[in-house]
Amino acid sequence: MVLPRIPYTSPFPAPTIHPSHAVTLPAAIRELTAFLTSAGTGKTLLLSGAGISVASGLSDYRGEAGTYRLNRSYRPIFFHEFTSRHAARQRYWARSFLGFPLTAEARPNAAHAAAKKLWEMGVLGAVVTQNVDSLHGFGDGMEVVELHGTLRDVVCLSCHHKVSREEFQRMLAALNPLWRQLLLDDAAVMRKVKTNPDGDVDMPGVEYSRFRYPPCPLCLRRHPELRVDRDGAFLEQKTGDVTGVLKPCVTFFGENVASAVKARAEALVEEAAAVLVVGSSLATYSAWRLVRGAARREKGLGIVNLGGVRGEAEFFGPDAQGARIRLEVPAAEVLKGVVGELRGRIAAPVEHEMQAELRNGLSTGLAG
Ligand SMILES: [Zn+2]
Repeated sequence: MVLPRIPYTSPFPAPTIHPSHAVTLPAAIRELTAFLTSAGTGKTLLLSGAGISVASGLSDYRGEAGTYRLNRSYRPIFFHEFTSRHAARQRYWARSFLGFPLTAEARPNAAHAAAKKLWEMGVLGAVVTQNVDSLHGFGDGMEVVELHGTLRDVVCLSCHHKVSREEFQRMLAALNPLWRQLLLDDAAVMRKVKTNPDGDVDMPGVEYSRFRYPPCPLCLRRHPELRVDRDGAFLEQKTGDVTGVLKPCVTFFGENVASAVKARAEALVEEAAAVLVVGSSLATYSAWRLVRGAARREKGLGIVNLGGVRGEAEFFGPDAQGARIRLEVPAAEVLKGVVGELRGRIAAPVEHEMQAELRNGLSTGLAG
């Protein structure tokens, strides 16, 4: 059974750094390097969360102690709200229309770059990310499983036709000239508006009921009963009717993680020698469950996160088996440091091997 992604709002206990001396950055770098290279022949799976994207200008859901500290007023939309009410979709798309350019502008930061480097070095295997921001990259060799989907596309809830979010943004702009003007006029102001990790913004006191959004273009042709205005914008549908309703390809709260995605993430945990969590408090069940699975199989488990993590007392308790490391240092700094440590070391054994081969070749040649 696929369990829904639900927000976990209880505070988390303060982290217990493990090993206890790894409180400085140099010590943390040494310990993480040792952790990543002691995983034997197997590779480590990276599980990343919103914390890894903070340095790219995207906000974190949670601050220390796991509360919605950074965005106190923010409550993400729930799947059932989006699917059941036209007004909820108007509100969502209006906020997303304003927030999307900021999300689309975000670029990978030093933590993403270091993770990619560690993958190239053969230290990290694949990435499972809770982020929907595409900042780990996609389609360029490194496997990235997007546990909660992506903001790159929108998908029709009835026929599953996909439209790129860029294209959908143009459609929204055409249907909402006043909102488009707001974006153009107040670009500087918009940069200061709080953007949420799902790509929408907080706009207190704004009237959303005139915001217009289009239905799925294929469904519009196939279903003459869809109610649209003269410009092709959706009018109020029968409550709960999702024919032709486009939704971002992200997993909303209260929505199931796609089963193929969940299965792939589980398979990657199974294959990995260890799991390294970076920038996540594991507040969502789908991510926490993967880590618990790894811990129960006595795989190596590392967590780098500022602030407490759901279930860490269990993961790092006296009964825990397998290598364990818990650090509370900035992700980019520690990952960059590990890359620096390994750069020298990884080159060396290759050289040794070459010299050994050369020696063997010479001795074989001599013997022959
Ligand atoms: Zn459709």
